[in-house]
Amino acid sequence: MTKKLSVGTRCIHSGNLPENGDPRVFPLVQSTTFKYDSADFLGDLFDLKEAGFFYSRVANPTVADLEAKIADLEGGVGAVATSSGMSAIALAIFTLCKSGDHIVALSNLYGGTVSFFTNTVKRYGIDVTFVPVNAPDEVIQEAIQKNTKVVYGETIGNPRVEVLDIERIANVAHKNGVPLVIDNTFATPILCRPFEFGADIVLHSTTKYIDGHARALGGIVVDGGKFDWNNGKFSDFVEPDPSYHGLSFVEAFGNAAFSVKARVAYIRDIGFVQAPFNAFLTTLGLETLALRIERHSSNAQKIAEYLESHDKVEWVSYPGLKSNPTYELKQKYLPKGASGVIAFGVKGSSEDAKKFIDNLEVFSLVTHVADAKSCVIHPASTTHRQLSKEQLEKGGITETLVRLSVGIEDIEDLLADIENALSKL
Ligand SMILES: *Cc1c(COP(=O)(O)O)cnc(C)c1O
Repeated sequence: MTKKLSVGTRCIHSGNLPENGDPRVFPLVQSTTFKYDSADFLGDLFDLKEAGFFYSRVANPTVADLEAKIADLEGGVGAVATSSGMSAIALAIFTLCKSGDHIVALSNLYGGTVSFFTNTVKRYGIDVTFVPVNAPDEVIQEAIQKNTKVVYGETIGNPRVEVLDIERIANVAHKNGVPLVIDNTFATPILCRPFEFGADIVLHSTTKYIDGHARALGGIVVDGGKFDWNNGKFSDFVEPDPSYHGLSFVEAFGNAAFSVKARVAYIRDIGFVQAPFNAFLTTLGLETLALRIERHSSNAQKIAEYLESHDKVEWVSYPGLKSNPTYELKQKYLPKGASGVIAFGVKGSSEDAKKFIDNLEVFSLVTHVADAKSCVIHPASTTHRQLSKEQLEKGGITETLVRLSVGIEDIEDLLADIENALSKL
């Protein structure tokens, strides 16, 4: 076929295609190592002169199948799977930044990312400036310094679920020769493909919608292949690398320099690789991603509308509601639906928020989102508990905020569950 298949079809058919007589499903290659006949050939593999597998910390066929699928869905030139979403973030940041560098982050990020940026990277001499998610161009421009190597944001911010103006922010970043890194976990490539709007690196916690069934931790970093690493800011990508006999990544791998360097320098040295069994489970989840996201979005839209009309609810934040300040951005970036995460405030106190949660029966109280099963959490006392009062305020995480991750159950049951729990307040 010459026509490019659409994204839902590619969830099922991209990746490693079986040849004559091969298993239809890409097998689980549960092997740490791979056998060769020639010492010279294995030497060439180590020098990156030949492509092939030699040790599963660097690459594994089952993991490579997942990487090929997600690179294809996002429209990138390569991808590197990691042990978790957090290690995907660490991989992207450590590949781009070293001691003395600086990051500009659009706030309203996942709690773990805020903690990574405020505490961990600082210990390695990397500084971070947070700017509001809706900051005008001038404010972002002002935050960017000579040593800024990354502008970082999430397609749909967490947990206030606001949509990022990716194209506008990419333009500001690019004017300064800085790549834009986007965490696309909540949107998935079904709803939004950030490369189409100028993002340079896209990453995911595959633990969430991509696996979708709360079975496997994982993350992935996807290389858009369009950023010019030769712009004077990224000498590590251009100059001879002493850990590879003086190889220049840009010279040797062209527009895939970022993803190759991420794998052969950082995954090799730090080792936060995805386990083959997790990749195997994740590719199973991926086959129904488009179907599930459609249902997550339509269920969440109905629940958000219901909550908005309820007199025990103070406010609702869901990009699919016309009242949402980022509704216009949702229409541009997520025209097919706004995914499954809703934040809302119950009237009353933090005790009312917790009581509502305790009275739910179909929604389960878990530290998770983006699961086939509906989930609920009280971020102020759990996922965002380690943040200071000031950070909580900045992120809009109030005491009465409840976060729902709407699953794919029948909508009648979900609405009845919420109605019942609200009626007890
Ligand atoms: C969960 C999550 C992460 C971290 O992923 P893990 O797989 O839990 O390490 C990062 N970003 C977002 C948006 C998330 O929801």
